[in-house]
Amino acid sequence: MTTAGAAEAASKRESVPDEKRNADLTKFMRRAKRRGAASCKVISPSHVRTAEWVRLKCQYGCPGYESCLTCPPYSPDASQTPKILDGSARALLIQFVIEPEQDQPDVRRIAAKLEREMFLDGYYKAFAMACGPCEICEECTLDFCVESYLARPSMEACGIDVFATARGAGYPIEVVTSDDQVQNRYGLILVD
Ligand code: SF4
Repeated sequence: MTTAGAAEAASKRESVPDEKRNADLTKFMRRAKRRGAASCKVISPSHVRTAEWVRLKCQYGCPGYESCLTCPPYSPDASQTPKILDGSARALLIQFVIEPEQDQPDVRRIAAKLEREMFLDGYYKAFAMACGPCEICEECTLDFCVESYLARPSMEACGIDVFATARGAGYPIEVVTSDDQVQNRYGLILVD
């Protein structure tokens, strides 16, 4: 986060009293876990790592590229995302552990629903990011989002280095080479 960004975030975040915010964050973290998250923690958006190279991984080698409105080239990129992060003082980093051959938590829906609940609780800047391409529709319209309350970009689609961000927060994440391996996936919600 830039100094100007930190000052802007600090000056804008006082709409919810500290005591209520702390209680609310605890409540949202409990909800995330009840809905399928393994763990959740409050982090500073300044600890979210972005890099230009992340887009290359989407553009070259990922079948999700240009396949939905939540992925590149439609999503914010690594030059926009730091400015977006600068607008918030707190974020929830949510860990999902994906076990082989078990039902997978729907990270996008869980994050979007929490974002909505935060917004309705007064956190008017709340914005969720998920992981992977949007799979809500069988085929994306690539024009007009038909589920805009749920469709949120993935962290990586926005140029976030998810590996560095998760590890920096003390969470595990490794390259997975087969479906038999446990995966750690992450969602992020900018709170206030
Ligand atoms: S909800 Fe449907 S239209 Fe919207 S981004 Fe996802 S796949 Fe595309």
